[in-house]
Amino acid sequence: MDAKQRREDISMLGFRIGGGGRAWALQEPFGAFTWFPVNDHPSDEALYDVAITVPKGWSGVAHGTYKGKTTEGRSSTFRWQSTDPVASYLTLFAADKFRMFTDKGPRGIPITYWIRPQDVRKQLPVARRMPAILRWLEKKLGPYPFPSAGLVATSDSGMETQQMVALGPRYMEPSVVAHELAHHWFGDTVTPRTWRDMWMNEGFAMYFEMQWYADHEDGTIDAFISNIRAYDAELRRENGPPGKYRRDAFGQSNVYYSPAIMLHEIRKRLGDKKFWAMTRAWPQEHRNTTQDRAAFVKWINEHTGRNFTKHINTWLDSKTTPR
Ligand SMILES: [Zn+2]
Repeated sequence: MDAKQRREDISMLGFRIGGGGRAWALQEPFGAFTWFPVNDHPSDEALYDVAITVPKGWSGVAHGTYKGKTTEGRSSTFRWQSTDPVASYLTLFAADKFRMFTDKGPRGIPITYWIRPQDVRKQLPVARRMPAILRWLEKKLGPYPFPSAGLVATSDSGMETQQMVALGPRYMEPSVVAHELAHHWFGDTVTPRTWRDMWMNEGFAMYFEMQWYADHEDGTIDAFISNIRAYDAELRRENGPPGKYRRDAFGQSNVYYSPAIMLHEIRKRLGDKKFWAMTRAWPQEHRNTTQDRAAFVKWINEHTGRNFTKHINTWLDSKTTPR
């Protein structure tokens, strides 16, 4: 299944078993079919009720809202529910000796964190940044589109699994938390209809990650964009243009960086006020839908009263960096 993919952050897709019996499943673009029967395509979303039974003392974590656990004899069953449609690549399974911590997000949104006892001291302070990051995102993007949020410290990647971000140790950074939470507006509630439009996920998430970093840590968005612009030509050469990436180059930096530069150019033309209004209106007007490039282009032209068709198509399809 992974023979043709070159992602460096994921050694294998689908269901994984790690040391000590812990297990997890992450899958982008495909892999959910390795642990439950599913039409594993982003256009085919579903509602989920999940029950995970683990040995007593262990925790079973999934996407959706935590609905509590019951313990019987030597095993515990953890229940999870999604009341908004979920694309199969945004589902999650994780079993480990996690400890659970609770928190409250903006407007009282319930949050749970799931962290292994030996990692709590290091990882819990990062997880606890979530409410503040969500407040910052809500100011820019309007209400967080789901009834709960969470973070589980598992896997060897960082993934925007719906309502339960999954972060491996290398990815446990506040800016990555901001990136994965931004995906809940770009990717989770508005999902690309096919993987050709992965730029719709990663371009926006990268842009909001950089803006969050500029606002909270260091640097300016202009400096970040000018830095990544220096790689654009090479990324296109190596992986293809972001809207027509090479078949064996799924999830490479070209679908992150180049569309983020494209968005920054749109911001320069619209000005800050209209740009942020646009990034807020797109997910709010298209909650729980799947979309594609044609729909976005049509919408942004109508929404802004400007014509971005050529700009967007050139940035997504050109083999060389647009001027
Ligand atoms: Zn991402």
